[in-house]
Amino acid sequence: MTPRGWALLTLAGLTIALVVLAALLIPWHRPPAPRADQLAALGDLPAEQVAKGREFRAALRPGGYTALAVGLLIALALGLTPLGSRLVELVGRPFGGHWAAQAVLGGLAVVLVADLVTLPFAAWRQSVLTRYGLSTNGWSGWAVDLLKSYAVSAVIGAVALFGFYAVIRLAPRWWWAFGAAGAAVLVVLLSFVLPVVVEPVFNRFTPMEQGQLRTELMSMAARDGVPVRDVLVADASRRTRAVNAYVSGLGPTRRVVVYDTLLREATPAEVTAVVAHELGHAKDSDVAAGTLTGALGAAAAVVALYLLGSWGPLLRLAGVDSVAQPRAFPLLVALVTVAGLVAAPVQALMSRRVEARADAHALALTNDPESFESMQRRLGSVNLGDPDPPRWEYLYSASHPSTVERMAAARAYAREVGR
Ligand SMILES: [Zn+2]
Repeated sequence: MTPRGWALLTLAGLTIALVVLAALLIPWHRPPAPRADQLAALGDLPAEQVAKGREFRAALRPGGYTALAVGLLIALALGLTPLGSRLVELVGRPFGGHWAAQAVLGGLAVVLVADLVTLPFAAWRQSVLTRYGLSTNGWSGWAVDLLKSYAVSAVIGAVALFGFYAVIRLAPRWWWAFGAAGAAVLVVLLSFVLPVVVEPVFNRFTPMEQGQLRTELMSMAARDGVPVRDVLVADASRRTRAVNAYVSGLGPTRRVVVYDTLLREATPAEVTAVVAHELGHAKDSDVAAGTLTGALGAAAAVVALYLLGSWGPLLRLAGVDSVAQPRAFPLLVALVTVAGLVAAPVQALMSRRVEARADAHALALTNDPESFESMQRRLGSVNLGDPDPPRWEYLYSASHPSTVERMAAARAYAREVGR
């Protein structure tokens, strides 16, 4: 069999594995709480809070979607015309067109162009956040964050680009196989490393101070059978008023993180509800499952790019002879961008189901639906969320159930246990 035949077979195998994993790992059987309960919950929210959240989300929308469209257009303009390959060539020229210069500097230049074109939209978003009082870091803090994130992406991108094109040179016929394995390993590695190497670039993490709340949270984790070494507090207040918590890392790097804003704004019972939700993620190994799915997805993407990249019309559009050239990198970016936009609603749906399961875990663990519901209200009001967002937006991009769905889930639980 030819390398191409093996690639087709591999892609089929990876696709089946992904479908099976999604079928097994995602709690598909858990339907959202009845719409009537959601509408009742919506009716119980202060009208002013609902209006403010909707106004804020509406203010973000034009810039957000324009940025998405412009980003897509730039990716297509660079990838499906010879513009991008010329840019890669140009950047590599001072280095005699050396492949490594084209691969790393040319590749980063392509990404940078897209970032710079959408920069005004990012600034505009920051101005909306500031106007609504959510942002606390000012323009200098915003600029520093932006530069830091460029730097982090440049480092990770340079390593990935160099590795990818080095593999292509070492194994011209089978690079897709090594590339797929490398991409999968990189995803797993990043999952371990990001919380301890990258997150501290943006925030300071300190162990939660000793006290009744910490003791309670640790004993809840023990009762839940989830080994948690510590609950960390992030100094999120340096850039936002928004409240949040999350769990990240794998094995030895796993941590539950709460924003300092959450500790300031919420009652201890509400913080407990949030942490119980995060313990649900830990208990169901959602980070590990996400990492595994991400790794297989990245491997499948590399194989798919190899197969698509031998398609003549596409190569002619991009003005390159082979997808294996660094000059073809803009074409790969265009394909990945389109795939990302198409996959977004599927990813959002899977995320919502996983989040709903963590909510159910929190309700069962704390057996305190009142605090869970008040936590949802607070999350919505402080973060200026639309408690019941437009259906199309919810379906396309919502990573979490809506506030009214989560409130309704708490009410359904309360009914079930007779509280
Ligand atoms: Zn969650």
